[in-house]
Amino acid sequence: MSKFKQLQLHNLVDSFILKSGYKEPTEIQANAIPLLLDGLDILGIAKTGSGKTAAFLFPLLSRLLNDFDRGDQSKLLILSPTRELAIQTHEIINSILEYSSLSSSLIIGGVSKRAQIDSLSSYGQVIVATPGRLVDLIKDGLVNFDDLSYFVLDEADMMLDMGFKDDIDFIVSKLPVKRQTALISATMPKAIEKISSSIQIDPKKIEIERESTVNQNIDQSVYFCLEENKNYLLLSLLEQFSDMQVLIFCKAKYGVREVVDLLKRSQIEASEIHSDLTQAQRNEAIHFYSNKEVRVLVATDIASRGIDIGGIDLVINFNLPEDATYYVHRIGRTGRANNNGLALSLCSDKDMPFLRNIQKLIGENISVVRDQPFHHEFQIPSKKKKNRRRRR
Ligand code: ADP
Ligand code: MG
Repeated sequence: MSKFKQLQLHNLVDSFILKSGYKEPTEIQANAIPLLLDGLDILGIAKTGSGKTAAFLFPLLSRLLNDFDRGDQSKLLILSPTRELAIQTHEIINSILEYSSLSSSLIIGGVSKRAQIDSLSSYGQVIVATPGRLVDLIKDGLVNFDDLSYFVLDEADMMLDMGFKDDIDFIVSKLPVKRQTALISATMPKAIEKISSSIQIDPKKIEIERESTVNQNIDQSVYFCLEENKNYLLLSLLEQFSDMQVLIFCKAKYGVREVVDLLKRSQIEASEIHSDLTQAQRNEAIHFYSNKEVRVLVATDIASRGIDIGGIDLVINFNLPEDATYYVHRIGRTGRANNNGLALSLCSDKDMPFLRNIQKLIGENISVVRDQPFHHEFQIPSKKKKNRRRRR
């Protein structure tokens, strides 16, 4: 009997597992699934790409389906930090529920409220939502959580980073107190512990490996160059790795635009993702990129967490992120589910302090590629300046 079979998930979930070709549960899945099936609250922490989505979806959808088979009404609410992640989670749910009488609705910003309101009134045993739009609909009196039994806060650390704390508190205040809650996170800052104790009851903590560790199957290097040479270096890397599917991260929206323009001038077609685009444009960009109709996707950190696009071979950081944890999230877009990945970072003098912080976080020195035409030697500052501002 396969290891998944032993977990005794609902047979529609088993069919999905078979169809997906998953051979055995990942570590977080093996640990979380039995506890969630038992009705316990969990606080699940495991790094990006470790299969956290299925770790909560498989058991909670199984419970929901079992409830329905018994004739009981129940609902599952999943909060996701970004629209892209909500869409992906919703697609998996639809695939599992395809041959059941249950349905799922997607509540995200950037699209018409009307269609969402219609889908809520007609279906909605499962609701996948981003916090902002859900708060709007609750305030309009359009969502009813009376039958809600299961609640998931996915990528909770990112939610907090994105400033959703108040929205989450508001939403939770509208949920029945008697419910099962799963809190899922890639990192474990203090704020997560706090939110856990405020929304969960005696949760079982499952900590596999936190996000500060990089997947061993991602090969990382840094390229030192002058800021004004980054454009040339980027083009030469795209040429060198011309057979690869590439995701390029830039610091801000204007950075993304500049890189896309640069690529256009060099006849390289690229899609882009940042917060100035409509949701339809963002979906289209991901669609073309996942189908490999374009080889390059240029994005801000909006794409650095949660979303799972298969087949990304290479992540290029055009700049390093100021927050070291974002580096780990960004490069975690490649090397997913035991595939190999490559992560290259372009570093000018401006990036050096960030590089120091990243190396400290991941506990290793990233190798420098010196044999390249734009190499410029820089020193990585060894520690913070002495005249740090005194604590107030
Ligand atoms: P996380 O939320 O931890 O970042 P995801 O849930 O997005 O990770 O899963 C990452 C990838 O691993 C997805 O492409 C998913 O299809 C795949 N995956 C999940 N569970 C398994 C499994 N048991 N066997 C093989 N692949 C899996
Ligand atoms: Mg996830």
